Amino acid sequence: MKKMIKTDDEWQQLLDHKQFMVTRRKMTEPPYSNEFALSEKAGLYSCVCCNEPLFDSSCKIEIKTGWPSFFIPASPNAVREEADENHSEQGIAVICNCCDAHLGHLFEDGPAPSGLRYSINSLALSFEEREENAVQQSQAAQAVDAAQAGEAKGWQPAEPTEKEGGCGGGSCGCN
Ligand SMILES: [Zn+2]
Repeated sequence: MKKMIKTDDEWQQLLDHKQFMVTRRKMTEPPYSNEFALSEKAGLYSCVCCNEPLFDSSCKIEIKTGWPSFFIPASPNAVREEADENHSEQGIAVICNCCDAHLGHLFEDGPAPSGLRYSINSLALSFEEREENAVQQSQAAQAVDAAQAGEAKGWQPAEPTEKEGGCGGGSCGCN
């Protein structure tokens, strides 16, 4: 995992004040303070600091806590957990593995199979929407192409054999 290390001054240049206070000062945003909490849009949530992909919308938990919640990160190494002594009830902090941004907190009341709930500050995330229909269509198109390619390959060897066997490769003029 690559690391992005910047000074507080550099982060303040890159982030707005609220984003800085959440990600670099471990503040928690007020609930329902951002559209991500209730968003059902398909796409990828990345770290607002370093732009590493962190959570996919397909792993979002439909739970009305006021913060976007996920049951698993986009990749196993995207985030790490650390003890957070500042929050006695929220004992485990979720940290971006790339830039060490404070993202939110981990709870163990999520759905099966992980049983985990990553409760993340919207301010720590950027979101890139994905066209679900376009993805499905292109996958379908690829499947059709693959099927046609397979069919063509399957038929190609049969054709010459048939011609050779039937009339000597077309030299008899029967067609
Ligand atoms: Zn990051």
